[in-house]
Amino acid sequence: MFQWDTKERARMKKKKSNSLTTHHVIPTSRLKGKGILSVCKVPILMHQLYHSLFGNMTPEEILQHLNVSFWNDEYEITINKTPKIK
Ligand SMILES: [Zn+2]
Repeated sequence: MFQWDTKERARMKKKKSNSLTTHHVIPTSRLKGKGILSVCKVPILMHQLYHSLFGNMTPEEILQHLNVSFWNDEYEITINKTPKIK
């Protein structure tokens, strides 16, 4: 199971439960090299729960995991990144 490193855990403890934290859509530990890092802001509790459930899985891996573990593998999962509109 994925564990937050102790530095990250200490940083998270100092924040209020409703404060926003930065989440990397693709975990930095999963990026080969340093590509473009897509991030979003999420409340700290939701962020902790997300990583407790999904560790450092990618979005596609999360959907596959949910399908196998919670949906009896009854779905065919596809996921596509939306193109950036400028
Ligand atoms: Zn995160």
